[in-house]
Amino acid sequence: MISETLSLPSKKVTVAKTILITGSTSGIGLGIARAFAAAGYNIAFNGLEANGAEIAQQVADEFNVAHTFSPANLMQPAAIRDMVANAVKTFGTIDVLVNNAGIQHVAPIDQFPEEKWDAIIAINLTAAFHVTKAAWATMKEHKFGRIINIASAHGLAASEFKSAYVAAKHGLVGFTKTIGLEGAPYGITCNAICPGYVDTQLVESQIPQQAKAHNMTEKEVVEKIFLQRHAVKEFVPVELLAQTTLFLASDQAGTITGIALPVDAGWTAQ
Ligand code: NAD
Repeated sequence: MISETLSLPSKKVTVAKTILITGSTSGIGLGIARAFAAAGYNIAFNGLEANGAEIAQQVADEFNVAHTFSPANLMQPAAIRDMVANAVKTFGTIDVLVNNAGIQHVAPIDQFPEEKWDAIIAINLTAAFHVTKAAWATMKEHKFGRIINIASAHGLAASEFKSAYVAAKHGLVGFTKTIGLEGAPYGITCNAICPGYVDTQLVESQIPQQAKAHNMTEKEVVEKIFLQRHAVKEFVPVELLAQTTLFLASDQAGTITGIALPVDAGWTAQ
């Protein structure tokens, strides 16, 4: 993958493919960043974690790859455009875009806060539109692009008390199909990965809300809500999602586009 070495401030690798991953300083996004760094990619990190710059630097140092870090809040389209422009300016293009950032809120519809609905739609769905739109020109120009949207099993099936999340993820699957069609003439593919439950901060933080909404203990939530949906009674490993993303980003995957691929321990087979 790395064809030659040029001098860049602190890192030796620049002529490598470049990946931009939203929400890559935590959870699934961070796992994807680590797998692509191991494969020699330049990494454009993004995330709201207070120590995000530090996390990005650690990964870049560990795998000796070039990187940028943007704390852009994906609720702000202008910040998204700046983040994408900076990655293109630094690395020449964006070969792979992973729309991964997401949030969750769990509550019955009559108690669902309006501001949580708006934030979930903005971050989990509308941001993917803005980032994709901003990265489109460079992918088109280079006649190569791999856009991978981290949707969810909730992009294919519903659960009660997750109205905004399920609506956003179903929307993201529809967006994926459309962009798959629009990208085909330009060597750009667009696919969604639909994970089951993964043990990350996003899941940990909803346990108390789930316990309240379902009137259960937190232990019961893990057993009766999360793993109950999985035929394989395990959380989906972050590393499996990272390897799936690597596969969809490969040159060989050029005729896979517009799909929503469940990686969900058998959840949506039922
Ligand atoms: P996480 O909370 O560990 O990571 C989410 C990331 O998104 C963080 O880096 C956070 O800073 C970033 N983010 C949130 N709001 C942002 C904003 N406004 N601007 C910029 N960045 C923002 O969660 P995760 O579980 O790794 O989730 C990653 C993706 O995977 C999400 O889209 C989520 O819906 C999806 N997913 C997760 C699971 C699961 O069980 N964890 C299952 C299916 C799908």
